[in-house]
Amino acid sequence: MTQEKPRLVYENLTFFIAIAVLGFVAAPAWFFMYGFSGWTWAFAGIFWVLSGLSITAGYHRLWSHRTYKAAWPLRLFFAVFGAQSLQNSVLVWCARHRVHHRYVDDVERDPHSIKSGFWHAHMGWMLRRYPTSEIDFDQVRDLERDPIVAWQHRHYWPLTWGMNLGLPLLLGWLVGDIVGMVLLAGAFRLAFSQQCTFFINSLAHTLGKRTHNLENTARDSGVVALLTWGEGYHNFHHAFQADYRNGISWWQFDPGKWLIAAASWMGLAYELRRTPRFKIRRARLQVQFRELQERLAGSPDAMTWSETLEREYQQFKDTVAQWQAVQAERVAAGKAAIRDKWRRTELSTRYRELEYRLKMQARRLATLRQAAAAA
Ligand SMILES: [Zn+2]
Ligand SMILES: [Zn+2]
Repeated sequence: MTQEKPRLVYENLTFFIAIAVLGFVAAPAWFFMYGFSGWTWAFAGIFWVLSGLSITAGYHRLWSHRTYKAAWPLRLFFAVFGAQSLQNSVLVWCARHRVHHRYVDDVERDPHSIKSGFWHAHMGWMLRRYPTSEIDFDQVRDLERDPIVAWQHRHYWPLTWGMNLGLPLLLGWLVGDIVGMVLLAGAFRLAFSQQCTFFINSLAHTLGKRTHNLENTARDSGVVALLTWGEGYHNFHHAFQADYRNGISWWQFDPGKWLIAAASWMGLAYELRRTPRFKIRRARLQVQFRELQERLAGSPDAMTWSETLEREYQQFKDTVAQWQAVQAERVAAGKAAIRDKWRRTELSTRYRELEYRLKMQARRLATLRQAAAAA
């Protein structure tokens, strides 16, 4: 029995074909025949950066996950330049994205589940009216109260046409390169940046390692991060979605995180949320334990290692229990203790000691892994 496919969404199909022809065929052809002016290149670059970062730092980390709070000028900026990415209004985007996180990989509920195939997760989900594409506005009742979000939703289409066609037309007229500006800063920039964003749903669930969580398909990849304004550390993100960072180490490429940090220095962003270091280490160790167990299960030396591994695991559980006890103590001590300098120092020393224990344990497990691989 063949199952009938849901009907095509002709508006989306027409748009994607048109933008691909304009951006990937007409723009390069124009470049080889007439070239683009310096101004055109400059504006294409500026729009590319601003619209891409507005999706990452605004649509995604500010509104979908509420990882920090932002002053109205920054929210307005994200709403306007986010519309330039042509990925729907904040409300629609966040409603779908929150469902993606809640039901990740579930083919019946995740709007772009990778389990339905790479192409489906990349673009296919937008081309047919799948039941999973229905927008559930109940997911975003909290965001409807933001007047900037409500305003953007009401005026989304004029705004997006204005930012993608109106503004390039105006700038092109000012610098004397109308066609070039529309093709490069409008069409090519839009088509290219959309493909990069779509990689977060396809490539970031396919390429890379699962370092923080083995429960879903999201992966951490520095290469994908380069294409997606830092969203390539997607396994971390699915494990700790309330964190304003995706690439947590200072060397990891995450312009979204840098922009939010810079905005907070300027007083435009505040209450930035970070996952406690201990929790991150604990998650990584859990993955390491699972992988070691699986590796050893098939090895002839399983008996030799199992005792060591069991001992390590007991110690891990013990460290976690101690950390939870310190947490409980801190909560019980209340605000007075937080103000007391000695008490504060004492608590932070204990936290650091426990973090250090996990760090050393991770090192031992890595050695164990190497030994098991060599055996
Ligand atoms: Zn997310
Ligand atoms: Zn995802």
